[in-house]
Amino acid sequence: MDFENENRIVSPDFLESDSDLEMSLRPKTLREYIGQEKAKENLKIYIEAAKGRGEQLDHVLLYGPPGLGKTTLAGIIANEMQVQIRVTSGPAIEKPGDLAALLTNLGDGDVLFIDEIHRLSRSVEEVLYPAMEDNALDIIIGKGPSARSIRLDLPKFTLVGATTRAGQLTAPLRDRFGVIARLEMYTPEQLSQIVRRSAGILGIAIEDEGALEIASRSRGTPRIANRLLKRARDFAEVMGNGVITADNAKIALSRMEIDELGLDSVDRLLLTSMIRNYNGGPVGLETIAATIGEEAVTIEDVYEPYLMQIGFLSKTPRGRVVTPLGYRHLGIPMPGQQQLDLS
Ligand code: ADP
Repeated sequence: MDFENENRIVSPDFLESDSDLEMSLRPKTLREYIGQEKAKENLKIYIEAAKGRGEQLDHVLLYGPPGLGKTTLAGIIANEMQVQIRVTSGPAIEKPGDLAALLTNLGDGDVLFIDEIHRLSRSVEEVLYPAMEDNALDIIIGKGPSARSIRLDLPKFTLVGATTRAGQLTAPLRDRFGVIARLEMYTPEQLSQIVRRSAGILGIAIEDEGALEIASRSRGTPRIANRLLKRARDFAEVMGNGVITADNAKIALSRMEIDELGLDSVDRLLLTSMIRNYNGGPVGLETIAATIGEEAVTIEDVYEPYLMQIGFLSKTPRGRVVTPLGYRHLGIPMPGQQQLDLS
């Protein structure tokens, strides 16, 4: 992660400063998990069916932008199945032996959660195939012509994979997941429910309008909503009696340079430089990245999903384009058009 993103309060990525917060705020059951009705409904059925048969749950792939609750959902799956969870990530499993060690240490029925699963190396992935399919580990013993392969039985387990980019998964890996769930960005109402729940756990006093104010500026992402809640509390304590209201939440958020739709200075820079330098597009991802000094992958994973979700940016075969809505939000007239009268 680059330095700038590490400091970005509306970054959906996990930041060091989130760690104490996230542990206490993670819902533990499907009932507590707000939103994502489609994914939840399906998982509930699969979990009940697996439990009814006394079997482990089929392998689950969760995909969607960061901070939407994939890790949380993996924990809930383990909890609902009443098994243990082991948490790791694609880049952390460097060699096939690392994965073999993880797999052989699992208990019967346990969940192995691999975050950023699209970043597994090919050689590690190949160990995963027989493990997912036959609960077996193929080990090569010896070298050269005398090398032979032996097969070890593994405990039955459920692999829960999470990725921000389902498209980058190899087909053989994707095909081995029985359940594939896509997580969607949350509505302001759902986020406001999450903010109120978190405030309750943390003992923060908040009015409903204050919660909605934070929710509507959280880019559809619970991780950001929880982070903004914490900052808004600081402002409410210093400015008043500690109760978060719509007014002091608004002030807190504008001090953090987060506008009423959750855009920060980097989002605005991205859109304005596309407009000023490239007439609003179409312009390629790499060009945008070079113009604003951000990495292309960061733009694609972190900034674009929300800008597209709110209809400010669209992807065309020839590149990215700022939409009329985007122009309007920035107060910049579209070339050749009169500024729309919104009054
Ligand atoms: P991801 O793994 O997709 O990056 P996480 O599972 O780490 O996201 O979620 C980030 C934080 O957001 C969690 O600590 C949790 O408190 C909160 N959160 C995510 N989804 C929900 C939800 N559906 N209901 C309540 N809180 C949620």
